[in-house]
Amino acid sequence: MIQTVRGVHDLLPGETTLWQFLESEALSIFRRYGFEEIRTPLFEKTELFARAVGATTDIVEKEMYTFADRGGDSLSLRPEGTASVVRAFVQQSMHRHLPWKVWYRGPMFRYERPQKGRQRQFHQIGCELFGPEGPLADAELMAMAMHYLTGIGLKDALVLEINSLGCLACRAPYRDRLIAALRTSAAQLCDDCQNRLERNPLRVLDCKRESCRATITRAPVMLDHLCPGCHTHFAILKDHLTGLGISHQVNPLMVRGLDYYNRTAFEITAVGLGAQNAVAAGGRYDGLVEQMGGTATPAIGFAMGLERLALLLDGENRHTLPMEVYLVTLGNAAEQAGLKLADTLRKAGLSVELNLGGGSLKSQMKRAGRSQARFAMLIGDTELANNVVVVKDMLQSQQQEIPIPETVNHMITLCRTSP
Ligand code: ATP
Ligand code: MG
Repeated sequence: MIQTVRGVHDLLPGETTLWQFLESEALSIFRRYGFEEIRTPLFEKTELFARAVGATTDIVEKEMYTFADRGGDSLSLRPEGTASVVRAFVQQSMHRHLPWKVWYRGPMFRYERPQKGRQRQFHQIGCELFGPEGPLADAELMAMAMHYLTGIGLKDALVLEINSLGCLACRAPYRDRLIAALRTSAAQLCDDCQNRLERNPLRVLDCKRESCRATITRAPVMLDHLCPGCHTHFAILKDHLTGLGISHQVNPLMVRGLDYYNRTAFEITAVGLGAQNAVAAGGRYDGLVEQMGGTATPAIGFAMGLERLALLLDGENRHTLPMEVYLVTLGNAAEQAGLKLADTLRKAGLSVELNLGGGSLKSQMKRAGRSQARFAMLIGDTELANNVVVVKDMLQSQQQEIPIPETVNHMITLCRTSP
């Protein structure tokens, strides 16, 4: 038997209803903020991610699904959504249409170690906002993320953490300080961190290893070395969040795994997910559009992991949709009439499960019960001869005969008025 690739899962009926709910809530809530959906390709030139995400990030160095196509070009399955959205922004000259507000949904691919809440194909819903530079946009975007997460039914379990990563002006001198400070106790750092120290020192702050924590907590943090512009931006952002009644925690050690962020970084974690507890993450990336060859445009965005949201909501929304009608037919002629009747009812808007594969009255009624249909309709030889159909209310075990020409109107009324 051929099975799925490791770290990749099927979403079965029942689960997909929950996912459809997660997506339709995004559509409905993001719309109120003026965001429209964008769909970009699942694969791009490898160079796009190397340049946008950062050549020295774990994602680009170790986690991308990269392959040569038959023409010899190096392509990669997208590991995240922002790079493609920025590419589209630049390619389609969207700087002429600011503010540009888009959201996306779909699979992302990273060669990671699979565990609960961490897959190799996983799914994100993300939002990107291009144009505004000030902290008002940051606050509104975080408010939208929180609105969505509470809207789908996650309540007190959420924690919003924020940080500032500074800008080009203040990050470079801070980076030097950080390297200098970390070097003095480099021997205590794990191998990964010793490596990161020279290449991507901010990532050291993110290391979860107990042995590195002591060194990290003594290291200087960006928040203490912000330039006046970044300092004010962060202060106003906190005021806006407070004004909106959104509780938040400042986490000076939060750095993001992607190189493109500056100033505001944020993460939303949920209690109850264990180690993989981040459900959403994002931040500002004011320099990325220009870096990708476009007209300099500030921007901010975030992405949420759908598998993790589904884990948190599991059990609450998992169900298959019950049918309205189960159509029982007895005999060949009735089967043919049933096929036609089901067709008519469905075209009138009702959901109808037509009995397939024959069976006795008893076994068909059993299937009707299992389908959780609100009504069963029954056609046999007698009904056919009288041009009627029997309608059975599955909750109240009442039944009545309806002339076939009247079934559409009758069933529509019944389905609308029945609890
Ligand atoms: P983590 O710290 O969990 O590795 P990350 O910093 O790599 O997350 P981002 O790249 O910012 O995450 O992606 C945003 C969100 O996408 C995460 O908060 C998480 O919910 C989800 N996510 C990221 N990687 C995976 C994965 N491999 N499997 C499932 N969900 C993921
Ligand atoms: Mg990660």
